[in-house]
Amino acid sequence: MSSLPDPFENALKQLEIASDYLKLDNGMKEILSNPKRILTVSLPVRMDNGEVKVFTGYRVQYNDARGPAKGGIRYHPAVTLNEVKALACWMTWKCAVVDIPFGGAKGGVVCDPKTMSAGELERMTRRYTAAIADFIGPYRDIPAPDVYTNSQVMAWIVDTYSQLKGYMIPEVVTGKPVSLGGSLGRDTATGRGVAFCTREAAKVNGLNLKEATFAVQGYGNVGSNYAILLQELGPKLVAASDSSGAVYSKKGIDAKQLLEYKEKTGSVVGFPGTEKISDKELLQLDVDILCPAALENTITKEVAEGVRAKMIVEGANGPTTPEADKVLEEKGVFVVPDILANSGGVIVSYLEWVQNLNRMRWSEEEVNTRLEKKITDAFHAVYKESKERKLYTRTAALVLAVGRVADAIRTLGIFP
Ligand code: NAD
Repeated sequence: MSSLPDPFENALKQLEIASDYLKLDNGMKEILSNPKRILTVSLPVRMDNGEVKVFTGYRVQYNDARGPAKGGIRYHPAVTLNEVKALACWMTWKCAVVDIPFGGAKGGVVCDPKTMSAGELERMTRRYTAAIADFIGPYRDIPAPDVYTNSQVMAWIVDTYSQLKGYMIPEVVTGKPVSLGGSLGRDTATGRGVAFCTREAAKVNGLNLKEATFAVQGYGNVGSNYAILLQELGPKLVAASDSSGAVYSKKGIDAKQLLEYKEKTGSVVGFPGTEKISDKELLQLDVDILCPAALENTITKEVAEGVRAKMIVEGANGPTTPEADKVLEEKGVFVVPDILANSGGVIVSYLEWVQNLNRMRWSEEEVNTRLEKKITDAFHAVYKESKERKLYTRTAALVLAVGRVADAIRTLGIFP
């Protein structure tokens, strides 16, 4: 992993392109290049064998000019402060590009959840929550799930935070279980949003979805929900992967059955009727649509040179390096950038927060309808920007988003 680019450097390179285009002054560029607040915490946790292990956790609030900071929490052995900074930066642009009143944040704990028991994960989550409790809150910073965290982890955060404050405050996080005020539709929202973006991208590019093929890298929450929902619109899933490997079938793979198989066996590898291929082969398959939905930096310059997909719809955050972007732009691959494509999760998180603060409950249909409108409107705003200004789609999305955040900062003024 060490040879891969630093995600925060990638984020800053993207910001520079947008800031130059917007002709932002140096002061504004500097504000936008620096997180507002960085918290590093040490988390002593008693493990099942009786020993104490100390984990490192982070919470980065990148910018809150447009509203409370918002962003998920990641549990992964490769978490670094710079990764969390990058993800918090991208959250800022994501909330701005879809125009919801949040700033951007992200959290992470360096740990290997696959090797930890439920009890160890619960104790680590509670200690992390206690360590960041004074910095989060429904009007301050609202966490949510990300890689290897889920609604159960959110429930432990709600309980710990509420115990510390003395009353129930479920609105401190989103992505909660429905029984605790979680929104219907939140668990599938990110994948659903990626599917809506794919549908709109197909429309503007004249691609007939009924005859299209697609491949998904990372068959987790985002990737599997995406595959299941997109398959309903017509395209054929021909390849999928997870951290154990990738599988391919020319005839097509049933997305739902693949998920059931992964839930039963722990991996997509070995799914009947498929052959094993490498992750790189998956990314370079001759498909219409490619959805990277795993981690950052998977589409490097070298991978991009061999990409044969007509469009890339980014389920993951930061899957494409700036150098790969140049290659994809030259090749004319239509890219729906992460900050737009995977914004469905934060859009429905916003809807969850609104329901919680208003003590209301919407049906799943209502949530999905609101999500569809919000994300398709944002898609077309970005597409229009890219056409009118002749910009690569990622740059168009960033120009819209960074422009909105810069506007908010300018209007607030500099304190004191
Ligand atoms: P997840 O933990 O549910 O799934 C991640 C999947 O990626 C797993 O199946 C894992 O096996 C696979 N994976 C890990 N390393 C891989 C590799 N090297 N090659 C192939 N597959 C690999 O996580 P998720 O919530 O689905 O998140 C996936 C991506 O989507 C992340 O970049 C995350 O930041 C982004 N995202 C998630 C949400 C959300 O609501 N969950 C919202 C926006 C963006």
